[in-house]
Amino acid sequence: PNELLRVHNLETTFFTDDGAVPAVDGISFTLREREILGIVGESGSGKSVTSLSIMGLIPSPPGKITNGEIQFGGRDLTKLKEKEMRKIRGNDIAMIFQEPMTSLNPLFTIGKQLNEAILLHNKGWSKKQATARAIEMMKLVGLPRAEQLIKEYPHQLSGGMRQRVMIAMALVCDPQILIADEPTTALDVTIQAQILALMRDLNERLNTAVMLITHDLGVVAETCERVIVMYGGQIVEEGPVKEIFESPQHPYTRGLIQSVPDMRYKKERLYSIPGNVPKPGSIKKGCRFAARCEYAFERCLNENPQIYHTNDHHISRCFLAEEKEVALND
Ligand code: SF4
Ligand code: MG
Repeated sequence: PNELLRVHNLETTFFTDDGAVPAVDGISFTLREREILGIVGESGSGKSVTSLSIMGLIPSPPGKITNGEIQFGGRDLTKLKEKEMRKIRGNDIAMIFQEPMTSLNPLFTIGKQLNEAILLHNKGWSKKQATARAIEMMKLVGLPRAEQLIKEYPHQLSGGMRQRVMIAMALVCDPQILIADEPTTALDVTIQAQILALMRDLNERLNTAVMLITHDLGVVAETCERVIVMYGGQIVEEGPVKEIFESPQHPYTRGLIQSVPDMRYKKERLYSIPGNVPKPGSIKKGCRFAARCEYAFERCLNENPQIYHTNDHHISRCFLAEEKEVALND
């Protein structure tokens, strides 16, 4: 499959009173056409800053992309002016967030908001045409009784329905990439499963590539083909989801797998990795996970592990993967 987006050596820094904080610290990855790529990590791992960097939405000041490239459609997005970025956001890369209530205007009906988005992308359309399209979009995302729903206000809808409306709005421009940042975190387990199923279904039907950002590897297991695990602003593991679950190479990934709640019994998570994500930039030496790693040894405290390839599509940033490293011929 062809690559759609290539992030190379991306570094996004926040300049605060405490100094320069590298929230994303030199990450490289690609998003391929039509795939669903998961980006997983705890809060503070840099995953949301990664998506905001791609969207050109890093608040500046205090944030700034300080190094690297984001290649998309033959251009480096980090070099584009805000006006050009707005075009990309309106046409090529769309984004949905955790809480749809904050993105929907409580004062306007669902229909009015969808119409506005539709008219923005279809200059010269009549209101009637836009409404017909809005109803079509609502059916596409599985919203029932669309004809009534367009007259209702956001607060009259359930959280799951609001998220479906947001997905419909994001898809109005027929984007090549949909970035979803914790799209189901605010929803209960049953509704979460329905929204994830919808995203898989839309990905298949519309061929939209999806970048799914989540703290929950369970969500990744249900939805994604490939996953990137982030920790302390770096990528610590990347590979096919099945392989990552069957043989995780990084101790942090192992911890995340252990803390996946059991969906079948709707149990609370039984395990959480002890300790906290380090403040970005606070660890100057050694592996960023060392303080929480049960496998840490002397070397981990002094040396920052590089990325090791354990096969041609699986990487781990851990000394334990060093002896499994394979030579790649490309
Ligand atoms: Fe743990 Fe060392 Fe591997 Fe870091 S490099 S994850 S501290 S074993
Ligand atoms: Mg986040």
